[in-house]
Amino acid sequence: MTIKKPLNLTRWEGAPVPADGTMVPLLPQLETSPSDFADLSARLRFCPKDGRIWLDDQRMVLLHLSALASLRHELVNSLGTAAARGLLTRMGYASGCKDAQLAKRIRVSDPVAAFLAGPQLHALEGIVSVETVRAEVDLESGHHYGEFIWHSSSEVDAHFAAFGMSAEPVCWMQIGYASGYTSVFMGQPILYREVECRGTGSHHCRIIGKPVQEWDDPNPDMIYLQPDGLASLVMRDGASSQALPVADDKAMPSGLVGASSGFSAVCQLLKKVAPTNATVLFLGETGVGKEMFARTLHSLSKRCDKPFIAINCAAIPENLVEAELFGVERGAFTGAVQSRPGRFERAHGGTIFLDEIGTLNLAAQGKLLRVLQEREIEPVGGTSSRCVDVRVVAATNVNLRQAVQRGEFREDLFYRLNVFPVHIPPLRERREDIPVLVRHFLGKYSLRHGQTVTGVTDRALDYLLDYDYPGNVRELENIIERAVILCPDDGAPLDVAHLFSPGGEVNTPFFGIGQDGFLTNSREPSSAPPPTTSGSAGGVIEQFLSSELPLDALENLIIQAAVERSGGNLAEAARMLGLTRAQLAYRHRKGANEA
Ligand SMILES: [Zn+2]
Repeated sequence: MTIKKPLNLTRWEGAPVPADGTMVPLLPQLETSPSDFADLSARLRFCPKDGRIWLDDQRMVLLHLSALASLRHELVNSLGTAAARGLLTRMGYASGCKDAQLAKRIRVSDPVAAFLAGPQLHALEGIVSVETVRAEVDLESGHHYGEFIWHSSSEVDAHFAAFGMSAEPVCWMQIGYASGYTSVFMGQPILYREVECRGTGSHHCRIIGKPVQEWDDPNPDMIYLQPDGLASLVMRDGASSQALPVADDKAMPSGLVGASSGFSAVCQLLKKVAPTNATVLFLGETGVGKEMFARTLHSLSKRCDKPFIAINCAAIPENLVEAELFGVERGAFTGAVQSRPGRFERAHGGTIFLDEIGTLNLAAQGKLLRVLQEREIEPVGGTSSRCVDVRVVAATNVNLRQAVQRGEFREDLFYRLNVFPVHIPPLRERREDIPVLVRHFLGKYSLRHGQTVTGVTDRALDYLLDYDYPGNVRELENIIERAVILCPDDGAPLDVAHLFSPGGEVNTPFFGIGQDGFLTNSREPSSAPPPTTSGSAGGVIEQFLSSELPLDALENLIIQAAVERSGGNLAEAARMLGLTRAQLAYRHRKGANEA
């Protein structure tokens, strides 16, 4: 099979210029695309009858990540960090070597595509999602330079589960894999290093690799690749094996649930900052649950028995923002017949949460800055100021730094607020939270709507795990609430059909079941051609209008006919009508209920 690959022959930024002034020959920059996985994933075979999983000719095993986390914990505690790191690095190295042999075997025609099979196999095996920054491969000259970003590293998750946040990069096995893979591929020792790691609080991991002799000081990392280095590593490690902090698993106050490393990292930050009076700024997309995190911060703080006042700055008309926040004196403006305390005064002793702070107008920003600096407020129309003791917690889904540059947000206020920024990752970057959240919302809405829903079917959970949630946790919550309402109250679990919104709203996920029985998750509502009144459709419309049949009834008849014609095969009937299987199943059931 020939792999077609876009080759971008631009010189990469920061490329070294040799001392003799000649330019380095241009080498292709590569993009990976998910469609390129097909030849690799076709070699993955599950044979449950034999108790075997095969990746081409290599027997594989499916392991629980939590089991790997336990192993990691035991290794570190019994052997020390350095020795454990050495073992895991070499284990990854061995696996990388095997995959390089596979890559060279199945992508013979194109060495560049063959090399990129490595990152793809790494992703296929569930280890990590890889983004290629730069990949230069020249087998003839032996030149190699690789730079990749790792997203959602499983090893970071395992490390988090065992030890929490780390001071050093933690993707030991994966770095071993990258080094082993590339060394076998290039036929010479290549060393990869992790220059950024999500395990230390970075947004993602970043690795850089080149031939060992091109690194200034490769030894500190090469020692982990030496099979006989174990004894020396145990010695070297000595008392430092306790250096890694063990995560304390104190539960978060009710309402906040999650299981991912991203979620745990945010919780750890909250626990750290909660007892202080520091201003906290929550950053993240709409719907990630910033208010829930703010409430949690409040309930973990010494102010927990004092008020928590939340206010959405975007929801208040601009001319009322100051009155709402700082209060109003009688007669300040027409209609202000009585003095009224603002939210700051009501939050006295406690916490005020200012959501969507980026929407505050400049006048209100000035007053807010004064509260933060002077700890006092001045009501609208008032002549004197009052002292308030309020912890300010704010949130935004816009880039405040850019708003400052555009002159829409005061720079001094930005720095006052940005004391302790906490980034909450979107749900698609912490999918391990989805099952926990589903269970949580299922309980909440079954109770609220008096429904008996026993759980979620496997295929519905598959779908929920696969969806990208542009609306984040809030969208998942809405999907589950709607599904609980749609689900028949007979103790049956939620199924795919219940997740489909009959209204077809913007955020409604679209999904179907392919011929192979696997769920497909397409962003497109349907592949049906756009409606047309030309040709045969015109005749159909004429006939329909003269039949005086209600539209609903016609739809039911068409669906019924399609189901009959396909011999009851809903997937096939769905294809006839340009619907997904789930959409068809929903309408078919709805039609049957109405009949
Ligand atoms: Zn990492």
